[in-house]
Amino acid sequence: MSETHPLRGLDDWEQSLRDRYPAGLTPPSGQSALDQVEKPRDSFRNLGDSSPPGVREFYRLNHRYQTLEYVRGKRADYGRLNRRQMGVWEALEFLNTLVDDSDPDADFSQIEHLLQTAEAIRADGHPDWFILTGLLHDLGKILCLFGEPQWGVVGDTFPVGCRFDNRIVFHEFFADNPDSANPALQTELGIYEEGCGLDRVLLSWGHDEYLYQVVRPYLPEPALSMIRYHSFYPGHREGAYQWLMNDHDREMFAWVRAFNPYDLYSKGATRPNVTALRPYYEELIARYFPPQINF
Ligand code: FE
Ligand code: FE
Repeated sequence: MSETHPLRGLDDWEQSLRDRYPAGLTPPSGQSALDQVEKPRDSFRNLGDSSPPGVREFYRLNHRYQTLEYVRGKRADYGRLNRRQMGVWEALEFLNTLVDDSDPDADFSQIEHLLQTAEAIRADGHPDWFILTGLLHDLGKILCLFGEPQWGVVGDTFPVGCRFDNRIVFHEFFADNPDSANPALQTELGIYEEGCGLDRVLLSWGHDEYLYQVVRPYLPEPALSMIRYHSFYPGHREGAYQWLMNDHDREMFAWVRAFNPYDLYSKGATRPNVTALRPYYEELIARYFPPQINF
């Protein structure tokens, strides 16, 4: 475990989500490809009690360092989209060079996770942009390959610039966040106006917001919301921060919630055949994206 990399791999965080949300929003039985996937066995477990030390340390760092100033800085920096030009499939292969520290062979690769998610969405007969969103949704994790620490790439996201809601997992670690000592940032609204809409709100920095910035010109709005808010568990699973949302956000969150089970529970299906699936997905990508985009 190192200071910036307490998780053995990014998947440790996703496993902790499955532990925390073992079931819930899966579509009705018999109607979804997700029904074929092995379901978690036990009921609700308290993450705080049972999570591995690496996950706990990961959240300690995340909650300590995700400040308003940090988020503003990362948004401005990565918002320039001047790191690389790549085709979308090329970017998926770039992401795939990210290998977990432990057991690189035991688990699914990044592309395999993305294809499992997309294939489950496809099997349920959803629109092509929804399938494409499944394929892309974690592409922002290339932030790791640009040198960002784990706590700046993954983790449940939450608004900065206002009080940290106590429904955020490991809420107690916010005591060490410098913003906690600034009374102006600790009211329910903080720097925001009631009902201003999430587009005006700065969420903690990570792979969701980064990928949103990258794909914003190319995808329909529900797809963009699924990408931008898929890690916003305090919002889409815990119902917090309603006072910052507007009616449009509430409409879009129906899509975010529809997407979530495919993200969390499509794992464990059979290993996808990347070579066989690639032509279908290359064609799907070409329907929405130019050959190269800016990252
Ligand atoms: Fe993700
Ligand atoms: Fe994911």
